[in-house]
Amino acid sequence: MKIVIMVLAVALILVAVALLIAIRKIVALEKGFKNADNTDRMTGLLNRDGFMEQGELVLEAAKESGEPVSLIVFDVEELGRINTFFGTGVGDEVVKAFAFAAKAAAGKGGVVGRANTDDFALLTHCSGEAEAQEIAKSFRNAVMNRLSSDTLRENVNFFAGVCEFDGHDDIYTMYNKASLCLFTKDSNRRLSFFTRDMENSMVEKELLRSEMLTALETGQFELYYQPKISFKTGEMRGLEALIRWHHPTKGFVPPSDFIPLAEKSGIITKIDEWGLFTACRQSKEWQDKGMSPVKVSVNMSQAQFYRTDVYATISAALAETGLDPKWLEVEVTETMAMQDIDRTISVLAKIRELGVSVSMDDFGSGYSSLSSLKTLPLDILKIDRSLVCDLDDNKVSKQITNAIVELGKAMELVVLAEGVETRGQIDFLTEIGCDLAQGYFYSKPCPAKDIEALMIMPLVGKAQTAAE
Ligand code: C2E
Ligand code: CA
Ligand code: CA
Repeated sequence: MKIVIMVLAVALILVAVALLIAIRKIVALEKGFKNADNTDRMTGLLNRDGFMEQGELVLEAAKESGEPVSLIVFDVEELGRINTFFGTGVGDEVVKAFAFAAKAAAGKGGVVGRANTDDFALLTHCSGEAEAQEIAKSFRNAVMNRLSSDTLRENVNFFAGVCEFDGHDDIYTMYNKASLCLFTKDSNRRLSFFTRDMENSMVEKELLRSEMLTALETGQFELYYQPKISFKTGEMRGLEALIRWHHPTKGFVPPSDFIPLAEKSGIITKIDEWGLFTACRQSKEWQDKGMSPVKVSVNMSQAQFYRTDVYATISAALAETGLDPKWLEVEVTETMAMQDIDRTISVLAKIRELGVSVSMDDFGSGYSSLSSLKTLPLDILKIDRSLVCDLDDNKVSKQITNAIVELGKAMELVVLAEGVETRGQIDFLTEIGCDLAQGYFYSKPCPAKDIEALMIMPLVGKAQTAAE
């Protein structure tokens, strides 16, 4: 019995020792990982966490000594594009060249880290614009010397944001401030300093951004609809859906005040998706109420067109709302379509295959060549308001508009004039054979319930007199 107990005790001790060893190993491994965690594998520089840790120590010391310190963020311009065009191997070469240059520029007592895939942060004892410019210059030289070919040297560039230590900020705040400068990218100004104005405008933009998200969640957006009228018959041939924002404290906010920021911040894709689903649902609802169907068009942003699977979103909106595709139209602007003409052609062709119409918005405002227009799969050409509003007294605008209508006819497109406001414009546009009009002369964009009233009591009287 005694022997059994002794064997058991020895076994227990052995298990305990094995457990202790295992625990020590895990702790040691964790420590190792932690150390490895502070280093960026590719460049051997400190990574973001490592940089913040070391940087904080430098700031603490600077608080005591009063020595000047600046944080400079170097941002590789379009690293993604370099990876796409030259391959990731070349992208890695560029990153390593930046790492080398940042290390060289940091100097003695400086801290340098790879804070993001394409951002190198540098905390160094310098102050004032002249010194920062000097560092940026030697940084550039070091990068260029390190790159292996002239082609790369021509294609690689950077932006730098600088934030000077004010004696109070922590390292995270300084990094954020230096990064803010990178939002104002300007190819004529490769280095920019953080200013209070910059912060205020960013804070305002950030606020507006979060307000837009709240607006989406709480139903502050509404679609207004503007009729498209036939010059010949005066009948309503379509409606354009235009977003309106009823802000709880600011009141009505026009699209021009928030669409550009929504585009920059990426929220536009959410807004456009909401607009698409809402317009389809509304159109189906009108049909279900027994009103004669009318084609509703929605505006598409560049981000939605190029950065999302817009074909899938349109298909989903049609499937979910049950709207027949022939009652939906999407509007793409001329400038947007010309960004990447091959992609535009293939995406628009797919959308048209669904049975949805496509119109080219703001035509005549951009610089597209008329020959490239021929290759686009389109149904409708919308002449920009800037041409239409000049028709009453500008001969050249008249000639251009005439040429656009002729071109549209030759391409068998429906031609619409935007921003029609006067009898003179209507007379001219009717004479040259323009098909549709949209503008304040007929109706401003209005809420869905007002459109219902229009559907029952059409604008025929006014439009017919206009077309006479
Ligand atoms: P757009 O697509 O060119 O829309 C036509 C704009 O012209 C609308 O301005 C409309 O109210 C205005 N308009 C129409 N007729 C007349 C007229 O006779 N005279 C004058 N002075 N203006 C007229 P709105 O609604 O302020 O929209 C401005 C722009 O905002 C739109 O230009 C479009 O680019 C954008 N937008 C509006 N809603 C949306 C949306 O849901 N998604 C996206 N991505 N953009 C939108
Ligand atoms: Ca439009
Ligand atoms: Ca337009």
